[in-house]
Amino acid sequence: MRDSMKFQARSRAVKRFEVGDSIKCLPELVRVSLGSAVVLRLLKGKLDAMPRTVYLLTYRKNKCVANCSFCPQAKGSRGRADMLSRVSWPVFPTRQVLRGIEKAVENSRIGRVCLQALNYPEVFQHLLAFAKAVHSRVNVPISVSCQPLNRKNMQGLAEAGVERIGIPLDAATEELFEKVKGSSAGGPYVWEEQFKLLSEALEVFGKGKVSTHLIVGLGETEREMVEAIQHCVDIGVLPALFAFTPISGTVLEENPQPTVSQYRRLQLARHLIFHGITRYEDMLFDKEEGISNFGINKETLMRIVQEGKPFLTSGCPKCNRPYYNEKPSGPIYNYPKPLTEKEKVQVTRELMLS
Ligand code: SF4
Repeated sequence: MRDSMKFQARSRAVKRFEVGDSIKCLPELVRVSLGSAVVLRLLKGKLDAMPRTVYLLTYRKNKCVANCSFCPQAKGSRGRADMLSRVSWPVFPTRQVLRGIEKAVENSRIGRVCLQALNYPEVFQHLLAFAKAVHSRVNVPISVSCQPLNRKNMQGLAEAGVERIGIPLDAATEELFEKVKGSSAGGPYVWEEQFKLLSEALEVFGKGKVSTHLIVGLGETEREMVEAIQHCVDIGVLPALFAFTPISGTVLEENPQPTVSQYRRLQLARHLIFHGITRYEDMLFDKEEGISNFGINKETLMRIVQEGKPFLTSGCPKCNRPYYNEKPSGPIYNYPKPLTEKEKVQVTRELMLS
């Protein structure tokens, strides 16, 4: 009885929403990451690790208007339009996806919805419509990863029920940012502008509710990445780490992935800085600007390493993004589930701590 009342209440909520303006902007199609499509029962498949978040990507026939050198969605890329990083994103009818989300939330299969967006003129109308459509149906936290133009865009998202926003820096330094995302890459992004938007996002969503992505392996040194991580944490922005992944058809298709050792040290540095255990200024770097000392005693360091937490996927709560940067056969950069004892021994070896 109670369930049927809940269902009626939800149906009314959907109906109210459908007569509103936003529904007119709700795109008929949306991309869903392959793993999310299995969790939503849109596709059949066996997963090595289940995503705890459903990842959606806005769909459009054309590519993004930006031109990030690592991205298969970039306007100049010859890469597959259904790819983002090494994950494929098949297209589904939005209605079917919304129904899948409702069921997956009701059955506790997912704990978050993450809307990711290309950059194109109507993107904010689409994001608002998606956020409202999800929010009116189910009680699940919503994250949006996008490129807002201004504070108004962000206020609109917050009012539509979005809990958290991610605005990507991707590169650790201004010089690299300009090279891979800015005018040198034929893209629209400006380093200072990203920080201005991040600080406006903090005002709109609140401290702890704003994240950014940093990609390891775009040509930065470990010192530069650690400095960027510290800066993000100091301004109240959560930095999430990705390993650069070369994708066929992109400008950087020939570039190598970072070494696993380098990535492990940066994961550990991020974990320590984010939890206030150490700071960039307390750490030591060698001649090649690699981390040589994390600025804490070895006993504490080894205890934290052996817990395994620094090597899990970083990002919003409940985001585990399985195999976004890696094949399930490895090497694994971001672990999507707690590490086994064998994996803990392996990451300790990979860190190459002296
Ligand atoms: S803005 Fe995002 S989707 Fe567009 S090219 Fe850059 S990384 Fe790719």
